[in-house]
Amino acid sequence: MSEENKEKILKAFGKRAQRCFGCFVAYHFKDMYLGEDASYFCENCKDESMFHFDDFSKLLDISKLRESKGTHNLD
Ligand SMILES: [Zn+2]
Repeated sequence: MSEENKEKILKAFGKRAQRCFGCFVAYHFKDMYLGEDASYFCENCKDESMFHFDDFSKLLDISKLRESKGTHNLD
């Protein structure tokens, strides 16, 4: 997979909506923090143990994301 496609996939993945487990406001993944047990929190609810999207997205197996199925649709 090319670097360009990886970037596209992560960008699309970052646009998925997710509710904060703390305050239940909906955010995009790219603005969220990952806690233990795959819980997601917004900037207001995060604590120091959580990873920002930019960090945890680097650890993901991108090929397993549904966004990787059709990179031609991601522009
Ligand atoms: Zn929150």
